[in-house]
Amino acid sequence: MRVAIAGAGLAGLACAKYLIDAGHTPIVLERRDVLGGLVAAWKDEDGDWYETGLHVFFGAYPNMLQLFKELGIEDRLQWKEHTLIFNQPEKPGTYSRFDVPDIPAPINVITSILRNNDMLTWEQKIRFAVGLLPAIVRGQQYVEDMDKYSLLEWLEKQGIDDRVNSDIFIAASKALTFINPDDVSATIPLTALNRFLRERYGSKVAFLDGSPTERLCQPMVDYITEGGGEVRLNAPLKQIVLNEDGTVKEFLLRGLDGAPDEVIKADIYVSAMSVDPLKVMLPEQWREIEFFQKLDGLEGVEVINLHLWFDRKLTDIDQLLFSRSSLLSVYADMSNTCKEYADPNKSMLELVLAPAKDWISKSDEEIIAATMEELQKLFPQHFTGDNQAKLLKSKVVKTPRSVYRAIPGRQAYRPTQKTPISNFYLAGSYTMQEFLGSMEGAVLSGKLAANAIAETTPATQTGTKKMVAMET
Ligand SMILES: Cc1cc2nc3c(=O)[nH]c(=O)nc-3n(C[C@H](O)[C@H](O)[C@H](O)COP(=O)(O)OP(=O)(O)OC[C@H]3O[C@@H](n4cnc5c(N)ncnc54)[C@H](O)[C@@H]3O)c2cc1C
Repeated sequence: MRVAIAGAGLAGLACAKYLIDAGHTPIVLERRDVLGGLVAAWKDEDGDWYETGLHVFFGAYPNMLQLFKELGIEDRLQWKEHTLIFNQPEKPGTYSRFDVPDIPAPINVITSILRNNDMLTWEQKIRFAVGLLPAIVRGQQYVEDMDKYSLLEWLEKQGIDDRVNSDIFIAASKALTFINPDDVSATIPLTALNRFLRERYGSKVAFLDGSPTERLCQPMVDYITEGGGEVRLNAPLKQIVLNEDGTVKEFLLRGLDGAPDEVIKADIYVSAMSVDPLKVMLPEQWREIEFFQKLDGLEGVEVINLHLWFDRKLTDIDQLLFSRSSLLSVYADMSNTCKEYADPNKSMLELVLAPAKDWISKSDEEIIAATMEELQKLFPQHFTGDNQAKLLKSKVVKTPRSVYRAIPGRQAYRPTQKTPISNFYLAGSYTMQEFLGSMEGAVLSGKLAANAIAETTPATQTGTKKMVAMET
């Protein structure tokens, strides 16, 4: 069965990978000249990489880890010490750590919270733990039901101290969704916490050993092409052309550089585009259908990723850091955390600026200047006095519409991978799956789409219809 997939982000590539496993023939069509969508990366004129986003993998990413194993590239994940490190705004240049001991979950995470005395008092810790109990005891259904509240509303309802919000949840909410706790759905951080509390290594972090485009997406492409599939760059979907009965007749690709448009015919069609371009491209006839109308409730959120190269080493910390700055979210010194970006003498900070709503239309110069001001608080020893660290170069990558904006009530709008159209499926981290708008969510959505296709359309060529086990 030939399956045309629009979008070579992680969801589209994962969908194609698992369709190959099920004996089908996918053709992936990507609009841009680079693989990976939100994990895309480029090399600058000096050969240095810059990325759409600072990406980390968690132990609680079962489908992603399974994919690494299946591709034979597990050694590319660089696992870090099991700890979460937060900057302390009230004590510039210092850190507070949640060191997770190597004992079974959830005792390991609870111990790390109880042992941390910088950020929370004992009373706050106890209230926090009691407030979290329903999420732990009543499980995922409770977590889903909390989608009606913002995180801030939920914390208030649970009687959890505002200090816990300002110390922990602003950082967590910005890191997970690029928005603040008064905007984010309570379901999101509760889902992450639930995972972290259930799995011994759930909150352990890994960095990829190089750029996601080369080190993760390319092996997926190799797997797909070796299995008889195809991945095409510079192949933008222009129109989803319908038959009279409303099913998909063909994909029409926009011809580039004066070339004519091209028709792609397949047995099954998949959109692995993010939700915003899909909404624009929905055929008129489908706009009457409630399933597709719900997509109007979803839209991508703004985020900015910065890269700053310095003339010296700013830190030797080899880990993700939560800045707890109102401008920035998480950051890392990639010269320590990533093998291919390693430099023993100079730092390259990669920082996520979020929420980015008020910054997305500002100039790179303004964004860099504001970030440099924040660095005075994060690294006062290097940005005050004589002999200050010098910024050698910088790169700003703006994404006006990234993962779906995870505000309250969105769970009801997230579509299943199977649609009411018999030969059309969806993949993408915005579609319904138990993980957030994350790399794990993207891979799982691709796998779910491939499984839904394999379920209704057994492979004819090999006769070896193989369903893919979902990792939970
Ligand atoms: C700054 C930042 C930091 C992040 N950090 C993390 C992290 O640490 N951990 C984590 O798990 N996740 C993180 N994420 C989220 C993660 O990157 C995404 O959830 C995931 O990559 C989404 O994959 P996707 O395939 O669903 O969508 P996308 O990556 O958006 O892929 C959609 C693809 O469709 C293509 N497309 C669009 N229109 C067309 C068209 N007309 N024709 C053909 N192709 C088209 C796009 O070019 C794109 O390649 C981060 C994201 C950002 C932006």
